[in-house]
Amino acid sequence: MRFVLGTRNRKKREEIESILSEFAFADLNDWPEAPEVDEDGKTFEENASKKASELARALKQWVLAEDSGLVVPALNGRPGVQSARYAGQHGDDDANNRRLLAELAPLPDDSRRAYYVCVAAVADPDGEIRAISEGRCHGIITKELRGSGGFGYDPLFLIPEYHKTFGELSPVVKHAISHRARALERLRPQLKKLCREAPKS
Ligand code: IMP
Repeated sequence: MRFVLGTRNRKKREEIESILSEFAFADLNDWPEAPEVDEDGKTFEENASKKASELARALKQWVLAEDSGLVVPALNGRPGVQSARYAGQHGDDDANNRRLLAELAPLPDDSRRAYYVCVAAVADPDGEIRAISEGRCHGIITKELRGSGGFGYDPLFLIPEYHKTFGELSPVVKHAISHRARALERLRPQLKKLCREAPKS
């Protein structure tokens, strides 16, 4: 049984494959006609489920999709599901980081607690959600950018136990403790069960 990942991002595929190494994966690069799914849900769970269901129905395949972002409780949960387009333009990490720093600047230091969330959902070829899991990773938003590793908010996301941001930590460490790694680890038993139950084709 093979799962199609709801992404065209090779790095994401490599990361997922390295964590869930006992399963077989493909990604959307093998399906150029796959539809673009509008991530207009109010929660990470809604978006991950919508992506998995719509892609699974369109491709007639098992699909694993995920949605992730940064939550700052003192900002009423922002950037949240808007993380990728917080400053307006999708994927403009520099502008997103500037906006986050500006919003936190007038607030007391204890407002800088934050966590990353990842929800991973698996849909069967009829679009039914058959597995779902969430992972979180807690940290503190720094006052300036530190390190050039990772992506998105990583240079501002300090892991207190390491005294380093995700921008400074090695990918090996990040991939061991990240929200994505935790969500995927929790998905593993559910995937194993699905593989046992699925009819052999
Ligand atoms: P997506 O789920 O890959 O679309 O990610 C949504 C957005 O959340 C990204 O564009 C980043 O802004 C943010 N984000 C999610 N995961 C991470 C991470 O591991 N590091 C930094 N930013 C992240």
